[in-house]
Formats: sequence, C-alpha cells, structure tokens
Amino acid sequence: MNSASQLKNFHCISEEELFAKLNLSDARGLSQDEAARRLQIFGPNELAEEEKVPWWKFLLRQFKSPMVYVLALAACISIIMGERLDAGAIVVVILINAVIGFLTEYRAEQALQALKSMVVRQVKVIRDGEIRLLPSQELVPGDVVLLEAGDVVPADGRLIEAFSLAVDESTLTGESVPVDKTTDTLPEDTLLPDRINCLYTGTAVVRGNGKMLVCATGLHTELGRISTMLQKVEKREIPLEARLAKFTKFLIKLVLAIVVLIVAIGVLEGNELLAMFQTGIALAVAAIPEGLPFVATMTLALGVHRMAKLNALVRNLASVETLGSTSVICTDKTGTITLNKMTVRESLIASDKARELLFRVAVLCNNASINHENQIGDPMEVALLKWAYDNGFDPNEIRREYPRLKEDPFDSSVMRMATYHDDGIAVKGAPERLLQDCSFIYENDALKPLSSTLRDKWKDDVERLAKMGMRTLAFAFGRSLDELAFLGVVGIMDPPREEVKEAVASCRDAGIHVIMVTGDHVTTAVAIAKEVGIMDDHGLEALDGRQISEMDEEEIARRAREVAVIARVFPEHKFKIVKGLQKAGEVVAMTGDGVNDAVALKQADVGIAMGIQGTEVSKEAADIILEDDRFATIVNAVAEGRRIFDNIRKAVIYLLCCNLSEVLVVFGGILLKLPALLLPLQILWINLVTDVIPALALSLDPPEADTMKRPPKRKDEDILTRAHQIKIGFFGSVMFLGVLGITLYSLKYLGFSSLKATEISFHSLVLTQLFFVFSVRESSILRNPADLLKNPYLFLGVLASMLLQVAITYIPIFQRVLRIVPLSAGEWGIVLIGALIPTFVLQLYKLIKGV
Ligand code: ADP
Ligand code: MG
Repeated sequence: MNSASQLKNFHCISEEELFAKLNLSDARGLSQDEAARRLQIFGPNELAEEEKVPWWKFLLRQFKSPMVYVLALAACISIIMGERLDAGAIVVVILINAVIGFLTEYRAEQALQALKSMVVRQVKVIRDGEIRLLPSQELVPGDVVLLEAGDVVPADGRLIEAFSLAVDESTLTGESVPVDKTTDTLPEDTLLPDRINCLYTGTAVVRGNGKMLVCATGLHTELGRISTMLQKVEKREIPLEARLAKFTKFLIKLVLAIVVLIVAIGVLEGNELLAMFQTGIALAVAAIPEGLPFVATMTLALGVHRMAKLNALVRNLASVETLGSTSVICTDKTGTITLNKMTVRESLIASDKARELLFRVAVLCNNASINHENQIGDPMEVALLKWAYDNGFDPNEIRREYPRLKEDPFDSSVMRMATYHDDGIAVKGAPERLLQDCSFIYENDALKPLSSTLRDKWKDDVERLAKMGMRTLAFAFGRSLDELAFLGVVGIMDPPREEVKEAVASCRDAGIHVIMVTGDHVTTAVAIAKEVGIMDDHGLEALDGRQISEMDEEEIARRAREVAVIARVFPEHKFKIVKGLQKAGEVVAMTGDGVNDAVALKQADVGIAMGIQGTEVSKEAADIILEDDRFATIVNAVAEGRRIFDNIRKAVIYLLCCNLSEVLVVFGGILLKLPALLLPLQILWINLVTDVIPALALSLDPPEADTMKRPPKRKDEDILTRAHQIKIGFFGSVMFLGVLGITLYSLKYLGFSSLKATEISFHSLVLTQLFFVFSVRESSILRNPADLLKNPYLFLGVLASMLLQVAITYIPIFQRVLRIVPLSAGEWGIVLIGALIPTFVLQLYKLIKGV
C-alpha cells in the first residue's frame, strides 16, 4: 500500500490523481485509524511556535526607564562621595528591580499568549463517512474538510465542492478583495494568487461553502513556509500603562527642576555642593513611585486571569480598562440573550398538500446534520431536522433521494437560503422576505397566485407568532427563484437565558445602556427584550435596519439612549450603529459572531466575539472572546474591568500619597534645618518594599459597594482627577505632619540624638504609610471596623511589611546600608503611636465627612 505524502503544487493535478496520491478512495474521508496513523507520521497541523520576543529583550527593557537613570546618577554621586556601600546598594536595587519587573512582564506576556492559544480552532471533517468536529491540529493530508462562510481555512488543500465560495486571502497575498473559488483543475504554470481551486491556511471564507481535500498541513503549508517572515510580534502599548509612564516622566521632570533649584539655592547659601547633591538625590528618589509600573502590570495581569475564570478571554490587555468604561452594550439576541436551544413550537402550513413538501424543504435546505449522538450545525437547522424526524420524515433518506446540486448560502443580508435539486429549488428564510419572493401558494388542489390579501393574512399570522417571542421562518419551493410557491411558516422557540434579567438590571444601575441588535423580526425581538427587561413599556423604542439605513450618524448619536432594540439588522448596519454611538461619546461594547461582523467588532471600543457560536473570523477581530456566549458574562467582565481600574487607581493614589509624604519629610527637614530625616536608601527601601506589598494587595481588593451602581467613567478620564489630586495633597501632608511631629518630639522632648531621631522618623514614616493603606478606600474604617478584614491580603501584606521593618533592624547588612540599629520596645511604642495618629486623624475626618 503506497503511502500519502504532503503535496505541493496540487492545483494542476486532476481530482482522480489527487485522490490516488493521497491514498483516499472516495469523499467519505479517511478512517479514524488511518487518520491516527497519518498524524503519527506527519505530526500535528500547527505552525512553528510563534517566535516570541526573546526574554533578554524583556530584561533590557527594564533598564530603559527614567527611574533607572535617576538611580544610576545617584550611584555615581555616591561613588564620587566615597560612599561605596551606598553605591553598591543602589546598583543592587536597580538589578533586583529589573529582575522583578522582568519576571512580571514576561509572565504576564506568557499568560496572554496562553490565553490566545486556548482558543482551539474546531474543524468539520468527514471521517468514516460521518461529519466530526475536530481540533484543527488533528488534520492530516487526505482529510476531507467542510468549510463555510466565517471559517478560517485550517490547512492547504484542493476544493472538491464549492458553492458560491469566496475567500479573503489577504493574509497571504495582501489582496483584500475576496477571491471566488472553483473546483476546476488549473494549468501547471498558474501563480499562487490565481490558484482558484486551492485553499490556503489562515485565509478566511467570506461567502458560500465547500469541501476541501487536505493536501498539506503544518509547516508544509504556504503559511507555514512564510510564517517565519510573518512573525513580527509587536508589543501593543497599553493606554493605562502608557498614561502612567507619561505621568511618571512628568513627575521626574518636575522633581529634577526642583532639585536643581534647591541645590542651586543651597550652594548659593554656602552649603557644600556634594552634600546638596545628596539631598537632591533623596528628593528625586522620594518623588518617583518606583513600585508603580510593577504594581500596575501585576494588577492588569491578575485581572486578565480572573476574567478568564469568568469565561471572558482577553486578547488585548488594553480592553480590560476599556471594558470598565463601557457605556453601551450592543448585544446579539440569539445565543447571547437566549439559550440558542431551539425547538419548533408552531407550524402554519399552507395546505395538506404542501405538508410533505414543506418538510422536504426543511430538510434539504439545511446544512445541519444529526447522527445518533452528535448534532452539528446551526441550532435552528438542527431544530428543523429534529422536527422533521419527529413527524416521520427521515432527513437522511430524503437527502439521499434528492441530492443537492448547488447552494445559495444563508446570508444575513439576504435573509434566505436556497438549495438546488433536480426537480426544483428549496428555499427557507425570513417570512417577510419569502412572502415577497413568492408568486404562488400551495392550496389543496393546485398552485394559486399569492394575492396581496393572502400575503397580509400570512403577515398577520407571522406577527402573532412573533408576539409570543418566537423566531419565524418560512419555506418555499419552485422550479426557479422567479416562480416560487409559498409553503408555510414555523415558529421556533428559543427561551431567554435565566440570568439575563438580573444582568440587564445591573447594567441599568451601572448607567450602561443595553441595545439588542438582531437579525430577527422586530416583534420577536421586542417580545424577548420585554421579557428580559431590555425594553419596558414606556420610553424606549425599537427600530429596524431599514430605519438605520435612512438615519445618518448624527441622528443615531442623538437617539442613542432612546433605542433598546434594533431588529432586522444587516451587518453593515452594525458598523453604522457603532460609529453613531461613538459620535455620541459612548464607549461601545459590541458582540458579533458572523464573518460580516468583523468590521463592526474592530470599530467597537470593545469587540466581543462568541466562543461557541462565533466564526473564526469574528474571534480574530475581537478584543474579548466569551467562552460561554452569555450576556451575563459580558456584564461580569464589565464589573471586573471597573474593579481593576478602581484598584489600580487606589494603588496609584496610595503610592503617590506616600511619595508626597516622603518629599515633604525631606524638604521639611531642609527648611527646618533639621538633620537629614530620610536617607536615599531608606526611601528606596520604602518605595520598593514596604509600600509595594500593600499596593499589590490592593489589586485584590473586592469591588467597592458602588462599583456597579455609578455611571461609567469617561473614556478619557484621567487616572487621577482633580479631586484625587487634592486628596493626595491633603493625605500626604497629614502623614508628613505626623512624622514631623514625632521626630521633633523625640529630638526636643525626649532628647534623642539626631541619629536616633532620624531612625525614629524612618520607622514612623514606614508604619504611617502602612496604616494609611486602609484610608485609600472611600469609607471610614471607624464606621465599619469589619472593613479592615474585607481584603485579608491587605491585612496580611501590612503585617508582613511591619515584620520586615522590625526584622531589618537586626540584620547587619541592612543596619549598615540603612543606618539603623535595633530599637527598644519603648522606642517602638513611640513609633507606633506616632504612626497611628495620622491614620486616626484621616479616619476621623472621613467619619465626620460622612463616608
Ligand atoms: P440573529 O441576530 O437572531 O442571529 P440572523 O441574522 O441569524 O439573526 O437571522 C435573521 C432571520 O433570518 C431569522 O429571523 C430567520 O428568519 C432567517 N434565518 C436565520 N438563519 C437562517 C438560515 N440558516 N436559513 C434561512 N433563513 C435563516
Ligand atoms: Mg444568527
């Protein structure tokens, strides 16, 4: 038995020869055993591991930050001043910081990659004569694959069947106009872009359907060959991180300006230049939130992880933040709001004579299949097959009797599907569409013209079914598309998902407007929308696609919040809807599943694809993939997005308050001509260790009570508003005053040496900052002491930092670098009381303010 091989240039081989070469007897496909054997030989159908950014590039990037420059400068100055130990310590800090930054960023990147690869591409393959759904990695040469609009081609191969099949090959050729495909054998010298009988990995089917014989897999595909060329992984800049980076740069410039000023004044006053430099460095180090980038990346990465647990796979980190500011959700109906478990509930058949024909059309004009255990295809089509079966019509038998010659596939812009057979054309589609298309109707004795009174009667019937929330579908049959005869209508029930009502209500609380955008009948859509609360009896209205066509973007923008349902929508309307909403300043999350939805998904601020029902093309265009297709998952993801943003904001406020208090302590020390209250290395220790631990724990803070009760934040809202800045100024000053007070007290009243006073000020600043983390949240702990344990990690983090702070006073290397000695219990008592005062003041202030 000759064995199959990976083929090249299979466009010019005749179909028989091709079957022979692939060692395949007919289009019933390989046997499962043979396929398994071939998988052993050829390996899985995968491209080479996407070349990742090498790890050392991540490491190098850690050194390219203004913070590192400032620290390096500090190290140089320390060397000049002969402080070798200090210089060494700073270098160690730079290195440790780089390693930690590297590890978090690298792991976050890898987690994101892992999420991406979790989206397994399923392929319809014929094996042992049956259609099976397999992961694309299992394809082997000789497999027969079924493809339809929306699929991404999983391997290279030759077409053996094509119904109006068109493919977007831009990933391969750069040409974005879809190419129409055929099954003819082509001359040998045909160039790749003209090989219209072949399909290539990674290209997208945009229209029609077909059957492909797999000729090459994995690295032997065209894409596999050029994949090394395509592997330019570029790190997309994340707005939030970008904004933080910009903010930090601004901060550094500001601080450097101040430092220069202070040094200049100091020198003019006759102080020694180097001593002034040392103060300058302390100031610079104090002002820069060294731990912030790390905390922000970690928080985002943890957030992505949690979203994955909620069944929302994030493909783009930036959308975590955007999700949080979503103000309008445009959602599909079928499968998202509803269960997509369809059953035929009602049927209105034109006449007894039409009955058999109607079932035949329902089975023939249908791409689903049900074998004993598995059902493949559109749930609605599956429902039709079951319905036929239950009424005594065996789909397989009927299909054998009337083979299909050709198909006009369903497309939501024509709203109907037709299949061609020897004796006529079977059509199914939206009732309005078919009533318009048909010129006859089957009465009991013969065909009758479909009069306008009859049409109106049928329209009323359809309306009646739709009012009950049923999806309606009509059938017709005829010799040609111009002489179709109407057969009847069915009503298909697709009940709403249970949890949708609650999710919609929570959107309302959160100021998020929900619009149901569907291809379905207006009445059906309105019935379902009312059932789940998207629409109520007053105020909100329903539009249909035609009205959207007539409106311009301004008008859509104006009416955005009045509309709750848009029905009979074509894909191009979706794009227009998104644009209109964005014009009104809304942040739009839009769901989509079809090929044609890709444009709208890209345009939306957050494009959401369906994991189960969605086409590959839509998934590739989306920012987020819903693994379970559920509307409630979108709302949960929005809540999670808000929580993450809140927590990053809390961390920023926390760290900046701490920085400010440090700057003030250093600055105040100079103004009051006190001994240097904080040394640069002490500040580094605070910023990189004791502050970072609670700041990180903040990322695990549960959502605030009002997270989903307040309106969404504006898209361009800064991470710190004016109110936050004032808060930082106030809180930072209170902390500073506390530390200053305790230092002065120990210097003046307790008569401590200036060295001891410095140490007291260092420890009390650390403890003040640690306690302060509980004041970052809105509400006062004094009102609700249980809040202290609301986030156990925060409590533990503070405890851990405190223990570290005490521990280092006993470790020689820290003693030398940080200039500290162990304190007595009494001295710790002073530090503790001193540190509690500012927190108490702040909590009391909140209590009085009533939060
Ligand atoms: P939805 O937004 O609910 O997914 P679709 O665009 O899929 O809406 O469907 C719109 C209408 O087209 C349906 O109400 C139905 O009447 C008709 N339709 C849907 N799927 C098919 C199909 N596979 N073949 C024929 N008609 C269909
Ligand atoms: Mg649909």
